[in-house]
Amino acid sequence: MTAKELIDAPLDQHSHVVLLGAGASRAAFPDGDASGLLVPVMRDFAQTLGLQPIIDKAHLDLEPGEQNFECIYDRLASNQEHASIKGEIERTVRDYFSALSLPVRATIYDSLLLALRPKDAVATFNWDPFLFDAHRRNCGIPLPQILFLHGCVRIGVCRGCEKTGPRNEQCPECSQQFSDGPLLYPIRHKNYSDDPYIRESWDAVKSLFKQAFTLTIFGYGAPESDEDAKSLLMDSWFQGGTREVETIEIIDTADSTCLHSRWSPFTPTLHYDPVRCFEQSRIARWPRRSTESLLHPMSKGVVCGAFPLPKTDSLPKLQDYVSRLIQKENTISL
Ligand SMILES: [Zn+2]
Repeated sequence: MTAKELIDAPLDQHSHVVLLGAGASRAAFPDGDASGLLVPVMRDFAQTLGLQPIIDKAHLDLEPGEQNFECIYDRLASNQEHASIKGEIERTVRDYFSALSLPVRATIYDSLLLALRPKDAVATFNWDPFLFDAHRRNCGIPLPQILFLHGCVRIGVCRGCEKTGPRNEQCPECSQQFSDGPLLYPIRHKNYSDDPYIRESWDAVKSLFKQAFTLTIFGYGAPESDEDAKSLLMDSWFQGGTREVETIEIIDTADSTCLHSRWSPFTPTLHYDPVRCFEQSRIARWPRRSTESLLHPMSKGVVCGAFPLPKTDSLPKLQDYVSRLIQKENTISL
């Protein structure tokens, strides 16, 4: 099947769900954001955000295996004596992530959103604003829905009206400025149900995983503190079937042994494709037709020609490329 035949073929409505971790933001901005701020991953989190002087005030007696931010935060949170240090860390983290911003040029976040359709979804564990801001600046185009599983610095809440919205806007009910939304910190057994906004996001993502036809897991290391999260997502995925024929995709630079132990439980027949960068992914190679590119080989035994997103820094060029695909979406029958 040629690329053109695939673009013009009837659309499939099965959904493609993408799960993002810190590695996705690092891959999008390896040299930092628009103003050069580095995007941290868990292993260099405390160092990148300059948290060490704050942590040192607690005089924690850390074992060699407890030097990462997850363990340190866990220790601080488990002792009331460290409440003010914990608060200072939380404020520093929020301020740092709030200051991050997208460059003007097209980024992986723009490509990711433009290459999926409204039936699809992108869920992120990241607090950073990149997914939120990219969704806003491409909003003239039909995009996938987005979900923030640990909160996001750009999302505010009105506790009185139980509404959420952009942090810098006002609640439509009471006209009060939204206040900071919840951010879930790395602590074992996180609570996904206390806060209404986080609960809503989790209810939605569980339903999406259950219905998903395929998954892409991008730069998510599934740390120990997220064991509960991983289990919830895996349970939801298997509620949608035995998953013996589905293929999932992993975008990650970790070695194959590590990826196997992390993700093989999601795919009992080991139908998973590891790729090392977004450009090699199914989403980038078959933009807005990713599920179709899987279904045609499965159901008709034909390989589909790819039509990759253009390699460009220009956001208008990228939007123009996908707008041609969208024209087809508007004319071909469902
Ligand atoms: Zn309100």
